[in-house]
Amino acid sequence: MENKKQIAIIGAGPAGITAAIYIKRAGFEPVIYEANVPGGKINFTAIVENYPSILSISGPDLAELFAKHLKDEKITLIYEEVKEIKKVDNQYEVITDFSTIIYPSIIIATGTKELSLDLENVSKFEHRGISYCAVCDGPLFRNKDVAVVGGGDAALEEALYLSNFCNSVTLIHRRDEFRAAQVLVDKIKASSVKLELSSVVTSLIGERFLEAIEITSTKDNTKKVLKVNGLFPYIGAKANTNFLSSLDIVNNKGYIEVSEKMETSLKGVYAIGDVINKELRQIVTATNDGAIAGIEASKYLKELD
Ligand code: NAP
Repeated sequence: MENKKQIAIIGAGPAGITAAIYIKRAGFEPVIYEANVPGGKINFTAIVENYPSILSISGPDLAELFAKHLKDEKITLIYEEVKEIKKVDNQYEVITDFSTIIYPSIIIATGTKELSLDLENVSKFEHRGISYCAVCDGPLFRNKDVAVVGGGDAALEEALYLSNFCNSVTLIHRRDEFRAAQVLVDKIKASSVKLELSSVVTSLIGERFLEAIEITSTKDNTKKVLKVNGLFPYIGAKANTNFLSSLDIVNNKGYIEVSEKMETSLKGVYAIGDVINKELRQIVTATNDGAIAGIEASKYLKELD
């Protein structure tokens, strides 16, 4: 199956959704592939307070607004995971377990996936105490003691969220300075969240469920056991680019290199949002990338006609 007027967008986060809206407005047909639900990572974010015009909104509520926009624009969503993209002449085959469709242009907006702690028995405690989504699993730990690991925006935001209903929240960070936005650092310092700075988690303890963790000081190697039922690692993420192995567009850190126009080194292939090599990963920068790629991919299709 081939369709010259369609542009495939892989990923329905804020970047992919914005690209789709701009492509539709330019008179072409965006087709979004999404393995999960529209909205991307904001579905797993407790509170968003830096998206202009909305002072404060829960992540899932904002994701719903993005999804509604897609629906209202009647944009096609294919709920399939893209397994591979192959270049065939000057076009691209988008391959899932259920379909293979050729597009003249594609936009990659697959974002990132959370890193897990590098500890021996992490997988044993996943879904039994360890969670990568405070907004999804946090309520299971109501009135319980939990810890969050990391010093970035995500760790501080989610620790604050958990402190609304957990008995205690301890934030464990490997340095004594945070990389998170100052507004979040100020909020954490004013909150009930306990800080364990210059510390790393070195052991996970429990029979069937997580019962405690051992932390070790990065300064003097002293060890301490904290009784916690929940552990939320927010230690960064890696780009979702495994399915792109047959296209030479990913750098040695796994991110996609793009120009100011969001073009990759392959003609007709654009990349946007958290999956690209950039400094600032925010919802606004994702939507910015999406608008640019939507316009550029539409221009590219027009020139092909
Ligand atoms: P991040 O900014 O990369 O921060 C990861 C944190 O985990 C860092 O503090 C890092 O420590 C620590 N870390 C890394 N590896 C570790 C390990 N093995 N053990 C212990 N600690 C480790 O990741 P993020 O907070 O998930 O954010 C990802 C991106 O999304 C960022 O660009 C962020 O700005 C953005 N974001 C923005 C918002 C917002 O604007 N509200 C919310 C969420 C995310 P070091 O500091 O020592 O390196």
